[in-house]
Amino acid sequence: MNRWRDGAFSLRHFSEDEFDHPDQMSVRFLRLLDEFRARLGYPFRITDDFRTKSEMVDLYGQNMEAWPDSSHRYGTGVDGHPVPFNARTRFKARQVIADMVYNGIWTQPGIGHYDGHLHLDSHEDRPDTRPAEWVGVSK
Ligand SMILES: [Zn+2]
Repeated sequence: MNRWRDGAFSLRHFSEDEFDHPDQMSVRFLRLLDEFRARLGYPFRITDDFRTKSEMVDLYGQNMEAWPDSSHRYGTGVDGHPVPFNARTRFKARQVIADMVYNGIWTQPGIGHYDGHLHLDSHEDRPDTRPAEWVGVSK
């Protein structure tokens, strides 16, 4: 068990030091991610989590109007990948999340399939946009 936020809650598979901004992450989303990781059966390396304004500027430029309405701004999305990351583990991740949808556990997931990572999120506040799946190129 990994204790977070001075013992306020704990996760089985993720510790605070795996996140750049652990204090900005949604606990509800982290619990979904932890359950996903347990079902995945592989380590899942987090490569990006909550994004500050300055991190958004680095990625998308100064014009905030042009920024995507990203779950990274709400602490309800991460980028990362199973270890090892290959076609098989990518497909396993997809299947695990689909099973969680069908079982009513992770009802509003977004899965972005990028060449170098997966984007996983939960947009519970925007049910019209989730569940969703898309492909992209890693920045
Ligand atoms: Zn992302």
